[in-house]
Amino acid sequence: AVRKLIAGNWKMNGLKAGLAEIAAVRDAVESGSTAHVDVLLCPPATLLAAACETAATGLAIGGQDCHTAQSGAFTGDISAAMVADSGASHVLVGHSERRTLHGEDDATVRAKAQAAWNAGLVAVVCIGETQAERDAGTTLQVLERQLRESLADEATAANCTVAYEPVWAIGTGLTPTVDDVADAHRFMREKLVERFGESGADFRILYGGSVKPDNAAELLSVANVDGALVGGASLKSADFIAICKAV
Ligand code: 13P
Repeated sequence: AVRKLIAGNWKMNGLKAGLAEIAAVRDAVESGSTAHVDVLLCPPATLLAAACETAATGLAIGGQDCHTAQSGAFTGDISAAMVADSGASHVLVGHSERRTLHGEDDATVRAKAQAAWNAGLVAVVCIGETQAERDAGTTLQVLERQLRESLADEATAANCTVAYEPVWAIGTGLTPTVDDVADAHRFMREKLVERFGESGADFRILYGGSVKPDNAAELLSVANVDGALVGGASLKSADFIAICKAV
């Protein structure tokens, strides 16, 4: 089985004082209490460089987004090269908040992942169905389309992690049933193996959406769930460390 990854996405939260939370996670990692998992934190861009200085071996730092271009006249945007230059090793692309609030489609997400690879970053490609798509019974079709179109052919288990986040489960306290998570993750695994061959079995597929210390063990024990992408519960180091230890 693939070694699990517990990733935290701080979204638009975190000032310099928040570096203390990163230091606390680093200390937990260094103490060995999370040695059975890989740990990644994605603070806002303003904290990336300081977060990388605070983190140490064993605690990876990632950005939350990158532009498709390497540089240029894109006021306010951040390139993958800049994320990498800050010391980060990963970057989220295609988070549902980017897709919904910034109009990113699958082609954009695919280009962002390719930009990440060009900069030597691991891309965490986020997908997931909306409530309306779930109600319409199209969850698996949506996942198939997003996997096909958001992942470029150059995706490998080494340069790419898939994060499945049902949009209706994000920040709501709602989670799919264990059976629903198992069905979705089995389906995504089948699609990855169909397209990428046996190496498709090595891609990590994270679950995200209202992961908390009290439901993490159950969600992370589901077959083909290779880790978690944690939003709200990653802001407090105690909760995030508890989730890491729940594996
Ligand atoms: P919550 O854990 O706050 O539901 O957020 C999930 C998420 O969007 C992580 O990327």
